[in-house]
Amino acid sequence: VSGNNRSFFQYKLVLLGDSSVGKSSLALRFVRGQFQEFQESTIGAAFMTQSVQCSDGTTVKFEIWDTAGQERYHSLAPMYYRGAHCAVVVYDISDASTFTRAKSWVRELQRQAPPNIIIALAGNKLDLSHSRQVSEEEASAYAAENKLLFVEASAKTDANVKLIFTRVAEAIPKSD
Ligand code: GDP
Repeated sequence: VSGNNRSFFQYKLVLLGDSSVGKSSLALRFVRGQFQEFQESTIGAAFMTQSVQCSDGTTVKFEIWDTAGQERYHSLAPMYYRGAHCAVVVYDISDASTFTRAKSWVRELQRQAPPNIIIALAGNKLDLSHSRQVSEEEASAYAAENKLLFVEASAKTDANVKLIFTRVAEAIPKSD
């Protein structure tokens, strides 16, 4: 972590989850306020930065790392989350298999990532709740058992997108 003092913090945040759950879309919505129906797999840049204000007056600046689609081959290098302070594991509430896969990402993080990493579980595509396959109760119970933050959101409608990142920012211990 570079340049930290009591009012300014910068942290590496990695996005994990199955292909097509909306990782790039959440990042793009949060950082640029945009949504694209046909989001390209790769954004190109290694990471994007965006800040959030915490209720205690501090500012947290995130380096948001998105995969370049390697998760398709289930071979994301541990290098990707090495040094990460936070991880957002994304699934699609309208696709149960992505929730199963999210749980395996959580287990992998618990084994391999830095021990104090803050992990949030994000159920994306909340706008598709008419074809929901993962109940909010099931996901929030799983999150509670595993001490994960939990938010359901929609990159498409912008529902709760900022909330994901604010929750993470506020969960980071700020003492130097
Ligand atoms: P990634 O592979 O996890 O990065 O997923 P993408 O961000 O590329 O999104 C995959 C597809 O899902 C794209 O067609 C997006 O437009 C779409 N998508 C992403 N977020 C949402 C959402 O909140 N609601 C809906 N309905 N579609 C979404």
